[in-house]
Amino acid sequence: MLIGVPSETDKIETRVAATPETVKKYISLGADVVVQAGAGTASGIPDADYEAAGAKIAKTAKDVFKDADIILKVRRPSAEETKLLKAKSVVIAIMDPYGQDEAVKALADAKVAAFAMELMPRITRAQVMDILSSQANLAGYRAVIDGAAEYGRAMPMMMTAAGTVPAARVFIMGAGVAGLQAIATAKRLGAVVTATDVRPAAKEQVESLGAKFIAVEDEEFKQAETAGGYAKEMSKEYQAKQAELVAAHIAKQDIVITTALIPGRPAPKLVSKKMVESMKPGSVIVDLAVERGGNVEAGKAGGVSEHKGVKIVGYLNMPGRLAASASALYAKNLLAFVETLVDKETKALAVNWEDELVQATCLTRDGAIVHSAFQPKAK
Ligand code: NAD
Repeated sequence: MLIGVPSETDKIETRVAATPETVKKYISLGADVVVQAGAGTASGIPDADYEAAGAKIAKTAKDVFKDADIILKVRRPSAEETKLLKAKSVVIAIMDPYGQDEAVKALADAKVAAFAMELMPRITRAQVMDILSSQANLAGYRAVIDGAAEYGRAMPMMMTAAGTVPAARVFIMGAGVAGLQAIATAKRLGAVVTATDVRPAAKEQVESLGAKFIAVEDEEFKQAETAGGYAKEMSKEYQAKQAELVAAHIAKQDIVITTALIPGRPAPKLVSKKMVESMKPGSVIVDLAVERGGNVEAGKAGGVSEHKGVKIVGYLNMPGRLAASASALYAKNLLAFVETLVDKETKALAVNWEDELVQATCLTRDGAIVHSAFQPKAK
């Protein structure tokens, strides 16, 4: 069994799907590992470290893809990479399949078993494979660090002989994994932290971190959590009421961090242009949802922009701004999943197609799209 780890080809991707630590584990599972030269550079991992862990280094992507039975990637293979995949091989990545019918079909046509790690069920057994959590946690932390760096004032209250610097007011919108880490990080930096979410369960979690919860708590709010624990899209009426409450709150904030996502849908717009304009000049907004269309109306994806004196931070690939940590955790998530695909006795690939983790994440297999959520639409 050969496991291939190519370099990521997307320009904004700094992460890598395996580390020397996970390479060692794959080898102890009975696999051979081939890593493309330079694959770990942006994560601070030199080729020599992979070699020392037992991997072979290949010069080109072609050399990695050619014979690999399992390809480990961060991002979905590009059209060119998809052509390099060996028929009947397995490819595991963040597939980002929503609205990508053509790319999903190309993977099916390549006759590979393509697994989308972000579709992993949020159940206890799969916690160690939960890439959404491992990456969102880092993104939430980094959002506060980036926000604080753009903010021209100190975060904690400082009482000095020369006067008092007030504590920054930080408002976190969306209290999932990223939002909760953002709350904890902003608290550690000494900010006065508030947060909001549409899920009622978030209230207790926000309060347990010492932040104040801000939300319209009507009947719809109480019913809002779906069975899977994700947010569902709220009614127009609720959105209007919440927007009004939040608008008044935002005007008083120094840093706003938005993290709101709804799986499979564009990110909800939470901060209108008017709300941005209500903030004091020098305030900062960090939009963690830019890759899903953004939570902030006036924001631009791919860097820091300014709207009427308010800085809007919209970096793509926030976890990738902490590449070494993000790669280490992502690689371990992948290792835990691969371990379930390998027969410990024969040390060969032995996918149990009935396994709920496999069924939830497998997009394509044997030339067909097998995932029910991504079936081609009838013409
Ligand atoms: P996410 O990234 O999908 O969304 C981020 C947050 O934005 C969520 O809390 C969501 O409720 C919120 N949101 C959506 N629309 C909003 C709006 N209009 N206004 C304000 N907030 C809005 O979420 P996530 O971080 O992946 O977490 C989703 C859920 O999964 C949470 O309940 C979390 O605790 C749970 N979870 C469970 C496990 C596990 O059991 N293994 C692991 C991780 C997360």
